[in-house]
Amino acid sequence: METISILGSTGSIGRQTIEVAERLGLAITAISANSGAVLIEEQARRVKPRFAALYDEDAAGDLRIRLADTNVKVLSGAEGVIACAMEGDAVLSAISGFAGLRPAMAAIKRGARLALANKETLVSAGAIVMDAVSKYGAELIPVDSEHSAIFQCLQGRLHPPRGERREAAGGDYKILLTCSGGPFRGFTAEQLERVTVADALKNPNWSMGPKITVDSATLMNKGLEFIEAMRLFSVSPERVEVIVHAQSVIHSAVEFADGAVIAQLGVSDMRIPIQYALTYPERVPGLSKRLDLTEIGSLTFEKPDLETFRCLDLAIKCAERDYRAETCECLVLNAANETTVDAFLKEKRKFTEIPHIIENVLGRYSGVRGSSLDELTELDADVRRVTAECI
Ligand code: NAD
Ligand code: MG
Repeated sequence: METISILGSTGSIGRQTIEVAERLGLAITAISANSGAVLIEEQARRVKPRFAALYDEDAAGDLRIRLADTNVKVLSGAEGVIACAMEGDAVLSAISGFAGLRPAMAAIKRGARLALANKETLVSAGAIVMDAVSKYGAELIPVDSEHSAIFQCLQGRLHPPRGERREAAGGDYKILLTCSGGPFRGFTAEQLERVTVADALKNPNWSMGPKITVDSATLMNKGLEFIEAMRLFSVSPERVEVIVHAQSVIHSAVEFADGAVIAQLGVSDMRIPIQYALTYPERVPGLSKRLDLTEIGSLTFEKPDLETFRCLDLAIKCAERDYRAETCECLVLNAANETTVDAFLKEKRKFTEIPHIIENVLGRYSGVRGSSLDELTELDADVRRVTAECI
């Protein structure tokens, strides 16, 4: 692994990936983001990629002027971002939301290593993505800390041969997916009514982009990760259990057939899973602090409160339906959630309205199906339109 392309380079994961890549001595050959020329210009001057792309055409025009004195080629639009996915031995996708799907597929189809932070891609199109991974012989390494943990517990056995489910492949392990509980752990439904945008943007353990921070507060993030785990590791929903573990020291665990449980522990620092996705199967010294267990003292575990945190419940039910009936309700859940969270961040809707709106939208798409990338893209756009109307 000598070269890397970073999609979503200006975000929380993207910026940490630049630090890790520099530490590993990897050449960053492409960077890309949504809009805003200032930060990506600074990054381009620092890492000297061959390509820098902005999805937003106007912002890309601005970037082209800013980088006119350099050798960096500025690209724009969806094609520009996809062109960046064609660069590098590894592609790290830290795009947020459904927008990451096509660039991820482009990296998979050329058989590259795809280090994937962008969970919405697996939630919305998990079946297509995992099929393409086996068909094109790509390497998909999870970056999401829980899934990196599970991947490490399984010693790299990501998924069974094409088309087979985990049970059929003979591995009947169970995934113990840990969850910090978010900033409102222990809150009653009544307390949640008074939550503001500023409250929801404070996460006790991780510093992340705004959308995933709100998802961590509603527990939709854990719901999306439940679906992500089911897809990545080809397990049935019964084999994924969410456990609230407030300290975020155990990043997840796997219980094997004989009852042995293997967990992965560490400080809450995304640079560890980012680095592992780039150096796998090797391990090399990194940038993060060491875990001091005696300083932490004790670890706690509890069951999630699915009645108060309705988003997690909705996600698990979508996962169950999609798994049994090969429907696309997880895509609907994701698109409705992205649209509703955006409205919450703009203070158009209250925190407690988020699950109601999503549930209402899900009701209109019960049993929906889609099998091609184009069909899923169309469905995603349709759900966003319908959700916006509900808002
Ligand atoms: P962020 O909002 O900080 O950054 C998102 C990045 O994606 C930005 O660079 C943005 O410009 C870019 N982007 C958005 N739309 C784009 C488009 N159409 N084309 C190209 N680039 C686009 O988000 P984040 O916190 O870094 O999270 C990124 C992804 O990683 C999300 O899917 C999130 O769920 C996942 N993730 C994040 C963390 C974390 O600690 N931040 C942990 C696990 C998983
Ligand atoms: Mg996570």
